[in-house]
Amino acid sequence: LMQLSIPLNFIGFVYREIKQGLADIEEMFLLLEVEPEVKNRANAPLLDVSGANIRFEDVHFAYDPNREILKGISFEVPAAATVAIVGPSGAGKSTISRLLFRFYDVTSGRITIDGQDIRAVEQESLRSAIGMVPQDTVLFNDTIGYNIRYGRWEASDDEVREAAGMAQVDHFIEQLPEGYDTPVGERGLKLSGGEKQRVAIARTILKAPPILIFDEATSALDTATEQEIQQALDLVSRDRTTLIIAHRLSTVVNADRIIVLQDGRIAEQGTHGELMLRGGLYARMWDRQREADAAAEQLRRTREEE
Ligand code: ADP
Ligand code: MG
Repeated sequence: LMQLSIPLNFIGFVYREIKQGLADIEEMFLLLEVEPEVKNRANAPLLDVSGANIRFEDVHFAYDPNREILKGISFEVPAAATVAIVGPSGAGKSTISRLLFRFYDVTSGRITIDGQDIRAVEQESLRSAIGMVPQDTVLFNDTIGYNIRYGRWEASDDEVREAAGMAQVDHFIEQLPEGYDTPVGERGLKLSGGEKQRVAIARTILKAPPILIFDEATSALDTATEQEIQQALDLVSRDRTTLIIAHRLSTVVNADRIIVLQDGRIAEQGTHGELMLRGGLYARMWDRQREADAAAEQLRRTREEE
């Protein structure tokens, strides 16, 4: 018996080693794919969130050393405030959201949350404090329910349904062949851009973290759905620190501060009223969008009459 138990133990040991090895390899690929740039410092403390005050201090950033994308960005999002970032496509708006989530580290300057440099805190604790609805949501190859519950694993079925309802995606899910158990993603049901955005919004509503980032989170939705979801987003962001990157200026009118980004620099900032009075870039963007909206409305009416 003695003789037999040794090799069995040994096999158990080897098996555990192999399993551990596989887990490490999976982890490594995940890291390589998603975040090759950032590393946890040794013994990095957890992010300690009190009010979730965010500061960008003279932030410079380049994906490629020869081309600077952010050229000295400084701004503050006070605790529980909502700050919007607008500006032409390519200005660097999404880059700001990726730096805050620490997909990349700044080239110089620093980003702090409640006074802590985000490079100095443990990554996972930073990310668990932030709910991000990105410009293009990629869903996991799992069920649609899993994709929402990813926001908070311990959520009940009722809470998942409630979040889906707030994100206006509950009716869509209920008419799927297997409801919340329907597989989605590359190997499952393909969702439209707007449906994916609503799943990501439901996930973030369920997570309800102290910091929210919406990067053109409703850009793929029609105006009516966007307005309905906007109410839910206003509700969750009310007492949370929120950074909104918006393509549609009507969604930023009520922001505490609007930052107009142009070519990696802050061109102007203020409230909607202040920026309209100024008659600069923001005021021109606003007028242009109103004209485009009016033209679209006119087109819709003409179609209806036909
Ligand atoms: P915005 O969100 O304002 O449209 P982005 O922050 O996405 O702008 O991009 C700013 C600039 O950075 C663009 O010129 C874009 O081409 C470039 N860029 C974005 N992501 C990458 C990347 N992963 N690698 C290299 N360049 C990038
Ligand atoms: Mg963008």
